[in-house]
Amino acid sequence: MSEYEIKEIVCRTGKQLLADGLVVRTWGNVSHRLDEDRMIITPSGKLYETLKPEDLVMVNIHTLETVGKHKPSSEYRMHAAICRKKKNINAVIHTHQENASIVAACRREVPAIFDDQVQLLGPSVRVTDYAASNTKKLVKNVLKALSGRNAALIANHGAVCIGRNMDEAYTAALLLEKTCKAFIEGEFLGQVKTINKFQARLMHEFYLRKYSKEAEK
Ligand SMILES: [Zn+2]
Repeated sequence: MSEYEIKEIVCRTGKQLLADGLVVRTWGNVSHRLDEDRMIITPSGKLYETLKPEDLVMVNIHTLETVGKHKPSSEYRMHAAICRKKKNINAVIHTHQENASIVAACRREVPAIFDDQVQLLGPSVRVTDYAASNTKKLVKNVLKALSGRNAALIANHGAVCIGRNMDEAYTAALLLEKTCKAFIEGEFLGQVKTINKFQARLMHEFYLRKYSKEAEK
């Protein structure tokens, strides 16, 4: 994909997040890998409604040097670190989505509740240890929570979802919201019954293999 196509995808995703209620105002951020060394990320403090491809910022994921007329999103170090660590991941979405944020505030790990959740997100959704925004500690904690997972909750903050392409990362964000809502309401109703851990891991691995060719297109 060309740089322009990637920038268009990032812009479109920002607008979609707003339309689907997963972000408000300028909160949250979206990035997509451009090549081995660079990613494209949303700028800091700009409204998604009026975001244009030329507003986006190019970041070197190793040196963190930026190119663009705006500053990158405040959590760009986290996006860059994910790109460096996970070579097969091309898209990262960070949101303050409502239900995921509630679970993150309670610092609860989301167990395996639904088949679709487990397939796409992994056998559970971990919550990080607390660290302040824009710190190295937060980046380290997020990487740990994302080990073998496509989503993680950031303690007292929000969520991060990743994918081999933007579609996969976006579906992960929607699925995370549905799962967290069910987890919260389920815990009120009684105790949520979970899928066996071994089975959950198998379902996730099967999904990654089955859809790997399609997702890497
Ligand atoms: Zn945030």
